[in-house]
Amino acid sequence: MKNIITLLVTCGVATLPAAAQTGRDAFDARFENKALRLDFVHAGDREGEEIFFDEAREEPHWGGPVRDLVDTTFCGNYYVHLRDLRTGELLYSRGFCTLFGEWRGTDEARSLRRAAPGTVRVPYPRADALVEILARDAGGEFREKFRHVVRVNDPFIKRERVAAYPTRDIHVTGDPTHRVDIVLLPDGYAAGEMEKFVTDCEAFTRGLFAFAPYSDHAGLFNVRAVLAPSRESGADVPREGAWKNTLLNTSFYTLGTERYLMTYDHKALRDLAANVPYDFIYVIVNTGKYGGGAIYNHYGCGTSGNLLAAKVHVHEFCHLFAGLGDEYAEDGAYNDMYPPGVEPWEANLTTLVHFEKKWQDLLDAGTPVPTPLDPARPTRTGVYEGAGYAFKGVYRPRPDCLMRTLRGDDFCPACTRAIVQQIHRYAE
Ligand SMILES: [Zn+2]
Ligand SMILES: [Zn+2]
Repeated sequence: MKNIITLLVTCGVATLPAAAQTGRDAFDARFENKALRLDFVHAGDREGEEIFFDEAREEPHWGGPVRDLVDTTFCGNYYVHLRDLRTGELLYSRGFCTLFGEWRGTDEARSLRRAAPGTVRVPYPRADALVEILARDAGGEFREKFRHVVRVNDPFIKRERVAAYPTRDIHVTGDPTHRVDIVLLPDGYAAGEMEKFVTDCEAFTRGLFAFAPYSDHAGLFNVRAVLAPSRESGADVPREGAWKNTLLNTSFYTLGTERYLMTYDHKALRDLAANVPYDFIYVIVNTGKYGGGAIYNHYGCGTSGNLLAAKVHVHEFCHLFAGLGDEYAEDGAYNDMYPPGVEPWEANLTTLVHFEKKWQDLLDAGTPVPTPLDPARPTRTGVYEGAGYAFKGVYRPRPDCLMRTLRGDDFCPACTRAIVQQIHRYAE
């Protein structure tokens, strides 16, 4: 599952400032090798959203990257900008989505106004800076929602470590500034279950690198775990009356869907993740119940004990890491997520509005668009109707892919390409 804001725009259509290419020296001139985290609250409903400052925090590690700091993919429904306060130069930007953004697309948001914590994290600037948060408006264009001036010597930037825990290297291949750094966080593992968590982290890592193209790029990833026990084992299952006192407050039935296992407690995730250098947060929840979820450049969740865990993990990780969309169709609350006339920004979905920006170049000559299902050609790359939770009007690249079902063992060519491109944005 992923963002559910209904009005999206093709990657690359929005106009944001051109990229400032940077290398290690340029990075060191502008940033310290640590992170600045800005916590906020967003509040609103289906009609609108406002963002309010909460607090600023210094974190001890920046996991990279140190080059290509300006994100020109225009993926995600939000963007964070970090600008030099004096010159206005864009120093760093990154697209992302949020669980609150997904909630705003639900029916509940038509009648309920609510708030949720959020965070953005940028490399720590050496000079005073401006943090801006942009969100897509009803027409899919990015609009500034929030700005906050950061004085780097502000004594009120919090510097205490609020959740210091031991860590374990699960798969470390090199300098975090040149790797995709995954931090694995435990939820619902009691104090006596930390070695079970490590075993589950090893299984996650084996599972991720069992599937191409991750298998071909294992040397470009680091995986680290934070060993933080919860008071109780398991996760909340509200409709079964199961409530567990856990560190990260993960819960089934997120947005009303049983298998959607997530948490709104983004500050707790960040506090725990800050123990290691990282780019992407993935939570392993100690339960055998089937579930998971992930949101682009926000965080992902999967479970420890299900037989399908490895495939669930790799599917969810692709939402988190590469912003891939779900290629399945289903009856439910998400059916208006990709309205006709608007091209999704996800690399593996199209409404045919701007298909030329998607996988058109991967089709063999003569492939009909849309492509009819042909049982004799189950792996033919084409344009197959039924994707993005909708049976009609949204198209996927292949009859099956790990972003559609967990029956197969591989990703379609459009997903594969998007994953490889993202690996090379973070690693070299
Ligand atoms: Zn999914
Ligand atoms: Zn795919």
